[in-house]
Amino acid sequence: MTQKTNYHTHTPLCRHALGNDISEYAKAAYDAGLSILGFSDHAPFKDHDLGYRMEYQELPLYFEQVDCLKQQYQGLMQIKKGLEIEYLPYYTKPNYSNHRNFYEYLLLDQKCDYLILGEHFFTDKDGTLFNLYNVADTEAYITYAKACVAAMSTGYFDIIAHPDLFGVNAFSWDKNCDIASDLILEGATKYHVVVEYNANGYRRGIQNYPDGNRYMYPLENFWKKIIGSDIPVIIGSDNHAPEQIWDYAMVRAHDYLSNIPVALIETIEDNRYNKKK
Ligand SMILES: [Zn+2]
Ligand SMILES: [Zn+2]
Repeated sequence: MTQKTNYHTHTPLCRHALGNDISEYAKAAYDAGLSILGFSDHAPFKDHDLGYRMEYQELPLYFEQVDCLKQQYQGLMQIKKGLEIEYLPYYTKPNYSNHRNFYEYLLLDQKCDYLILGEHFFTDKDGTLFNLYNVADTEAYITYAKACVAAMSTGYFDIIAHPDLFGVNAFSWDKNCDIASDLILEGATKYHVVVEYNANGYRRGIQNYPDGNRYMYPLENFWKKIIGSDIPVIIGSDNHAPEQIWDYAMVRAHDYLSNIPVALIETIEDNRYNKKK
């Protein structure tokens, strides 16, 4: 490891993260010796309340808070302004100033440094909304994977967060899991999207599933497919408390990935550079 970075950080604005103020997160990151801290709170949607996130009206406040920290830590630690956001083309149609959709509005008007794709919710080709935490069967994972690929093809997202989040469901690994995983990894390769190894899965603990005791995610069967490939991988803390920015889960994720053949990167610029090659 040449530097400590984390692009996946939440804030108290999302209503399920601890702390009173976003500045506590920046201080914790600085104290832990991070060179880059990327804020990526859950993005709200204008006319659709998906829960677990700030109000749409609070978006300007969030940007203001992050911009303020950027100034404050100038020369000490790079602060990046991002969001973790679902790709919901049916929910994010035009009407965002001069841009084609919400994502362009965030990147171009609001000057977000990056967007992380976090498909907790996803739509099928007809626009029906699904919640990945509550699907009927593993066939839905294929719909999820296709939604992820459609998202990655837009070029709006630098990172795909917890691509193996489907592991939260109580189903055994089957052929659909393989198909979904392969689709996601092919998409990430084709569209140069960084795949996130999400340390928050460790914090959620080992659970009892039909296929045995395991973490919800990261899923071993998913990550087996990445080992030995040149798909860029980044570790995300996905912290919902200041002290989680660099905790045992982050150390463990680094220890694990540093000792196996994966293309681990520390900054998203590393991937952008690869794109030009
Ligand atoms: Zn969250
Ligand atoms: Zn997150």
